[in-house]
Amino acid sequence: MLTPEEKIRYDRQIMITGFGVDGQEKLKRARALIAGSGGLGSPAAIYLAAAGIGTIRIIDHDKVELSNLNRQILHGDKDIGRKKIESAKEKLGQINGSVQIEALHETIDENNVDELTAHCDVIIDAMDNLPTRFLLNKAAIKHRVPFIHGAVYGLEGRAMTVIPGETACLGCIYQGAPPKVKFPVLGTTPGVIGTIQATEAIKFITGIGELLTDRILIYDGLKMKFSEIAVKRNPECRYCGKMNI
Ligand SMILES: [Zn+2]
Repeated sequence: MLTPEEKIRYDRQIMITGFGVDGQEKLKRARALIAGSGGLGSPAAIYLAAAGIGTIRIIDHDKVELSNLNRQILHGDKDIGRKKIESAKEKLGQINGSVQIEALHETIDENNVDELTAHCDVIIDAMDNLPTRFLLNKAAIKHRVPFIHGAVYGLEGRAMTVIPGETACLGCIYQGAPPKVKFPVLGTTPGVIGTIQATEAIKFITGIGELLTDRILIYDGLKMKFSEIAVKRNPECRYCGKMNI
């Protein structure tokens, strides 16, 4: 049930066709896992908190550095040296004090990924490296939790939603992992992509619209164009192929 204050607070989104009080109540009951509180995780978490999601489980093992601040908008000057999840929890609490924040200072690995993804309704991939993305993708498929992928480089970004067992997953489209190296990013790029990821999470939870499945959305900020690549499930996929699901 929504309180009278919640009905006022979320009035503009409750007005959206198909959303309604029902959609808001679904959001209130939902838990989103946000893997990473950096460039992608910041806008995704901010918009999910503002939208009134019940619980955000945000995971990061890093501390805030000066060079993060051009894009990681959950953190600011005074947070340098703090654990990212501490400043994330503080900022999200300021945006919406009724959202439960489970802030976990952890490195996601094979041993803890199942526990970290347990009891989540949606997983937002806000990582910066492919091996951890694959781990999350694998756990999402195992637990049948939708997985919303986002990635950025410079002024280019990509996003795709995976519905386990139904639509193409990361393993269907990407093979080996490139080496982890420092790469360029303009802060607005993860701003765009992280916001798309939050939108997909809200759409999935409330059941409105069409999801970004079986297609990769490509954002080109230099030319200011969006385009799509259609993708298909690979029956031989090492994560979601017939032998593995
Ligand atoms: Zn797959």
